[in-house]
Amino acid sequence: MFDPQDLTPVTCSSLKTFKLCRKDYLLRFVRGLRPLTESEALYLGTVIHGCLERWYLAMRNAQTGGRGGMDKDAVVPGIFDYIDASFPDRERDERQKRDWHLARTMFAEYIERYPFEDFEVVEVELQFQCPIFNPDTGAASRTFYMRGKVDALVVREGEYFLLEHKTASVINESYLEKLPLDFQVTLYAHYLEQYMNIRIAGVIYNVIGKARLQQGMGETEEVFEARRAKLLEKSKTGKTTAKRQMPEPDEEYAARLAEKYRGPDMFHRSPLYIPRSQYETLTAEIWELCQQLLIARRTNRWYMNTDICFLYNRPCRFFPICVSGDNPNVVDNKYRVGPIHPELDESAPSRDEMFT
Ligand code: SF4
Repeated sequence: MFDPQDLTPVTCSSLKTFKLCRKDYLLRFVRGLRPLTESEALYLGTVIHGCLERWYLAMRNAQTGGRGGMDKDAVVPGIFDYIDASFPDRERDERQKRDWHLARTMFAEYIERYPFEDFEVVEVELQFQCPIFNPDTGAASRTFYMRGKVDALVVREGEYFLLEHKTASVINESYLEKLPLDFQVTLYAHYLEQYMNIRIAGVIYNVIGKARLQQGMGETEEVFEARRAKLLEKSKTGKTTAKRQMPEPDEEYAARLAEKYRGPDMFHRSPLYIPRSQYETLTAEIWELCQQLLIARRTNRWYMNTDICFLYNRPCRFFPICVSGDNPNVVDNKYRVGPIHPELDESAPSRDEMFT
């Protein structure tokens, strides 16, 4: 069994970060800094992943327990409870309320859209750890090893596939066109093959859109009076039939959201075969990145890439640090030190542990 001992773990996320901005890598994966307030945009995606994890775990347990289909009535209420618990301040916080509505509708409509699957679930939230090999010499790195976690591993028509959940603001042609270039999926498939000694045919992308519909907030008395006064000014009769717009009731908003999710563009599934040639390119790239990472560590030089400070149309999580010239007060007031790879448990189980 592979024992990483004193090696440093790298993950798909850490290598992607290093590729994009070394300063970001230093702050997040060396110093372990986390903003005190995590991004709300990312939180909804995390909750949806949590729902799907519970859903497919129940499906796997039903399949491996030989019970055929799972007992949805026993599973679904627990998942809605999980969503409710994820947004505890929804009565006071508008953002939480909107995401709570969205998460409930996304999950409810998801299980309507996919009531049955044409695959068997082998593992859910499966962790792996593997050596990183030099593609020229075959020698394992003496500094780094690879860790990761896949959403699910499934068998479809006798072949293994990764099941990869994604939440996307827009599911359009350009989004779908980029999927075959997904560095993360090729990396996961390659290392999971090593870890489990299986052959992975490809990936099933399971994309869920994030609807942008807003709940009607209505007008305050003041806003209504101002609008009414303007209408009266323009009225030739000195009268108006304007009525105050009232907030949209929760049930109406939920119904509008559900209608949106029954439309054609909110879910996408596509199985994609991974060409074996992609693994060669990937292993060479990972080795090269690890060499660059070694140099950065030795020289303690972590270059900034200021071209990407506003990637994804929002400021990078470390923008306040960089823009303040690394002011320690900014670090103390806006950040905390947390685990380096919070998405992974302390240790991945060995393959033997998994199958006994
Ligand atoms: S703010 Fe810009 S330079 Fe600083 S870590 Fe983020 S991406 Fe890099």
